[in-house]
Amino acid sequence: MARWLVVLVLMGGVVWWVRRWWRQRERRWAEIPRPQREGEMGEKREQLVACNYCGVLLPASEAVRNRGKTWCREHVASGGEGSGQREE
Ligand SMILES: [Zn+2]
Repeated sequence: MARWLVVLVLMGGVVWWVRRWWRQRERRWAEIPRPQREGEMGEKREQLVACNYCGVLLPASEAVRNRGKTWCREHVASGGEGSGQREE
């Protein structure tokens, strides 16, 4: 009888240890990509602005501000002066 008890305790201990190890492993896997993703998000978190002419979204650093409005690089030259009929 005592042997069975020992076996049961050992098996329980092994199961507990495996589950603990498994959780640590999962947590480690979950933690590794997160900072990388946040870093990427941080770079991409730059404010997006819409071109006043074509409405395309572009990062604020690439947008050109002219006359209080935001333009993409293609349309800053036009300055929005056209009636919007010009298309490439
Ligand atoms: Zn545009």
